[in-house]
Amino acid sequence: MDMASSLLALPETPRQFGHYVDGAYVPSGDRDVFTRNSPGHDTAVTRISKCTKDDLNGAVASARAAFEDRRWAGLSGADRAAVLLKTAEILRERTEEIAYWETLENGKPIAQARAEVQGCVGMFEYASGLARSLHGDSFNNMGDGAFAVATREPVGVVGVITPWNFPFLILCERVPYILASGNTMVAKPSEVTSATTLLLAEIMTQAGLPDGVFNVVTGAGSTLGQAMIEHMDIDMLSFTGSTGVGRAVVEAAGKSNFKKLGLELGGKNPQVVFADADLEDAADGVAFGIAFNTGQCCVSGSRLIVERSVADKFAQMVSDKLQKAVVGDPLDENTQLGAITTDAQNRTIMGYINKGKEEGATLVSGGEQLDFGHGQYIAPTVFSNVTPDMAIAREEIFGPVLTVLPFDTVEEAITMANDTEYGLAASVWTKNIDKALMISRRVQAGRFWVNTTLAGGPELPIGGMKQSGWGREAGVYGVEEYTQVKSVFIEMGKRDHWIK
Ligand code: NAD
Repeated sequence: MDMASSLLALPETPRQFGHYVDGAYVPSGDRDVFTRNSPGHDTAVTRISKCTKDDLNGAVASARAAFEDRRWAGLSGADRAAVLLKTAEILRERTEEIAYWETLENGKPIAQARAEVQGCVGMFEYASGLARSLHGDSFNNMGDGAFAVATREPVGVVGVITPWNFPFLILCERVPYILASGNTMVAKPSEVTSATTLLLAEIMTQAGLPDGVFNVVTGAGSTLGQAMIEHMDIDMLSFTGSTGVGRAVVEAAGKSNFKKLGLELGGKNPQVVFADADLEDAADGVAFGIAFNTGQCCVSGSRLIVERSVADKFAQMVSDKLQKAVVGDPLDENTQLGAITTDAQNRTIMGYINKGKEEGATLVSGGEQLDFGHGQYIAPTVFSNVTPDMAIAREEIFGPVLTVLPFDTVEEAITMANDTEYGLAASVWTKNIDKALMISRRVQAGRFWVNTTLAGGPELPIGGMKQSGWGREAGVYGVEEYTQVKSVFIEMGKRDHWIK
């Protein structure tokens, strides 16, 4: 049996993970331990330490020591790049293992998990180039008596708090960019999906990252996460999660050390479809945009805003597509929609489906829990006759639930697309390039797609406008977020004395 097929059975016993400090796992010892059940199988798959505040302090101290003695920041960009490239190589070799644990803890389809790890390889490869090319500015225009430069320096110790929907991908959209410029870090994954963050720390040690540069603590957001956002010795925090917790992060930063913040929060993202679009392509894209990762995506295209002349026909086309999507066991190679990741999220999604019915929207398809004898699954769901004031049209559901809102004019489509507190992502589907470009300028979203959705790459920045967040991850923009700029003014020649 090859590695891939041997991994596709459920583990016989849950895999035990300690947290990770100073280049090594710390055994759970007498700490409380959290047992994670696979949401697709209801079977215990991992056992994760519940770290204490002392554990967090230890991890931050390790990152601080590694930063101050310059064991990482003091290397050349070329040496840092070599570690990032070696990490990419090991990620390629260990893709099956990472995808397996990601699928078991998260419930996403194994084929998708593998593709995500490949995406992460690209992040490390791209950021390795940035480690070598990151530079500041020179000012040769200060007169003959002076010269100045602006340099980019690492910020220091960076905390990273991640959610459960893309535990590995979201991590890898940050880690190589954080490390490229010489920062050190402490990551805290969601308590339900910690395994692959710990595996990345282990892999980076294997790739030659100096001990103490990348540390991981595991545990609950309300205790350990809260202690992180209040921590006086964390210089910057990258938080990805709900807008509600994002608000708490901003308050805690203000009450503690004014740590620099990167925030990636919720979304209620529009898919604007015009009658002149290739409707077959658009139907497939809209179905993908709401069903990928069972809609548990911050950038899910959950609001279909469609030209009225084709609205009913198009809603039916999307619904037909979604009914053909394969929902099932995440470990099955053919599965397209896996399990809902947490019990709480399952209840939230079903709550919104019931609310949609109560509010008078028409259920076109789906709307039910699917019973496979194990795990928790929800059929992809389409609601028509939705009005913009309904909760299902306004609030982030974070599940495979699409709301259909018709429009009559281009102006109305733009107004509807912007009629949300969020500004994370948007798509437009039309064959009229003038219209697509004009709309791309007017829709407030950090990511914009034309005739596609959920597309990107390590070169492109990720982030939100309005209440979807602050700052950008990935690309040149991402690496710059994790630096601070210093101006250096150099006087040349003899000083013109102030006191004569
Ligand atoms: P969440 O906000 O509940 O949790 C996210 C992380 O924050 C977890 O690690 C959690 O343990 C931690 N946390 C919780 N309370 C905390 C506190 N008081 N202090 C510090 N940390 C705390 O979000 P979730 O339920 O894990 O994920 C779903 C949400 O994340 C959705 O709203 C989604 O839109 C958002 N999200 C955004 C992006 C993005 O890039 N914009 C990506 C993925 C998810």
